Amino acid sequence: MKTSAALDRISPSPTLAITTKVQELKRAGIDVIGLGAGEPDFDTPDFVKEAAIEAIRRGETKYTNVDGTPELKDAVVAKFKRDNGLDYTPAQISVNVGGKHTLFNALVATVEAGDEVIVPAPYWVSYPDVVQFAGGTPVVIAAGPEHGYKLTPAMLEAAITPRTKWLILNSPSNPTGAAYTVAELKALGEVLERHPHVWIFADDMYEHIVYDDFQFATIAEVCPSLYERTLTVNGCSKAYAMTGWRIGFAGGATWLIKAMAKLQSQSTSNPCSIAQAAAAAALNGDQSFLAERNAAFKTRRDLVVRMLNHVEGITCPTPEGAFYVYPEVSGLIGKTTPKGQTIATDSDFVGYLLEEARVAAVQGVAFGLSPAMRISYATSEDILREACTRIQQACLALK
Ligand code: PLP
Repeated sequence: MKTSAALDRISPSPTLAITTKVQELKRAGIDVIGLGAGEPDFDTPDFVKEAAIEAIRRGETKYTNVDGTPELKDAVVAKFKRDNGLDYTPAQISVNVGGKHTLFNALVATVEAGDEVIVPAPYWVSYPDVVQFAGGTPVVIAAGPEHGYKLTPAMLEAAITPRTKWLILNSPSNPTGAAYTVAELKALGEVLERHPHVWIFADDMYEHIVYDDFQFATIAEVCPSLYERTLTVNGCSKAYAMTGWRIGFAGGATWLIKAMAKLQSQSTSNPCSIAQAAAAAALNGDQSFLAERNAAFKTRRDLVVRMLNHVEGITCPTPEGAFYVYPEVSGLIGKTTPKGQTIATDSDFVGYLLEEARVAAVQGVAFGLSPAMRISYATSEDILREACTRIQQACLALK
C-alpha cells in the first residue's frame, strides 16, 4: 500500500526530530546540551496538578463535550475577556488537543485546493506543513532581521491575492521571539480591512512570555472590525508549562468553531477530561507565578544574547518575548571546520555544533529563513553559559 498524497505533502517536525536525536545521544552516554526543544523547563504549577488529581477523584474520567467541557469553555471566555478585552460566548470557543490541533482543525476545516495561506517567515515549523496537508498553498513571505522579523503592511498588501484564505500571525513568534506592537497590528489591520475575504489566524501561544514592559496585544482586540474573521488562538502549553497535557483553544466565529468541532468529533473526540480540568484551574487560578518565571526567562535571554553576540559571525537580536533567540549566522557561512568541512548552510553549522560542541540547536532552514539557528533558552543559566561557551569555542575553531 502507498501512503496518501496528503501525507506525502508533509515532513516530520524537524524540531521534534532534534529532540529525539538529543535523547538518543544522551542515552548513549554523550554529554550533549539540547537547546532544540520548544518547551519551558519549569514544572506545571502544583495547583494545576492538584486540580487534575481532584478531577480523577471526582470521576471526571469519561468522554466530555467534543470541543471542551462547559467549565473549561467558561474559563477560556473569562481569560479572553480578562487578558484581551475580547467578548466570546461559550459557543465561540473551541478546545483542542494542543495548539497544534487547533491549527490543524481550523485549516483542514476551511482550506481547499488552490487556497493560499500567508505565512510570514521565519515561521513555526507546523504552519506550512498543515496548510499543505489541507491542500492549500503556503505563501511564505520573508520577514528578516531588517524588519525586526515582522511582517510590514506593504509586504502583506503585496502578498494578498483573490485566493488568499488566511493570514497566520504569530506574536510573540516561534522561532524569533519578535512581537507586534499595538501600532504595528493596527497598520496590518488597515491592510486587512481592505481585503474582507482574508481571515486571520492569530497565534498568541506565547502571550504571557514577554519582557521589558512589552505590552502584548492581539489583532481582534486592536482592530475590532476584524473580530468577525479572526480566530484568536492560545493554549496552556507554554505559559503554564503544560506541554504534555495537550490543551489548546481558540475563540472565533460560531460557524467556524462548529466546523472545527465536526472534524474533531470524527478524529480525536474530546481532549483528555483530566487535562481539561487542569486547564480550567490554570486559567482561573492565581497568575502571579507567570511574572516570576518571566523574570528567570529574561535573565537567561540576556545571558544568551550577550554571549552569542561575542562570537564573530553571529548577530543575535534581543527578542521581545517567547523563550527563543534566532541569531543570524551569515558571517560563518563559507568557513572551514578543523576537519576540513566547509560550512555552506545553516544545517551544516548546526550539524557542526552538534558534532564538535555537543550543543543541539535547530537550523534556520526549518523555519524558512536562513542562515540562522533557533536556540531555546528554557533551561538553567549554568547550562546556557556552558552551551554558549561551547558555541564560542567551536566558532573560534572555524577558519
Ligand atoms: N503555536 C506556536 C507558535 C508554537 O510554538 C507551538 C508549539 O511549539 C504551538 C502553537 C502549539 O503548541 P501545543 O500544540 O504544544 O499546544
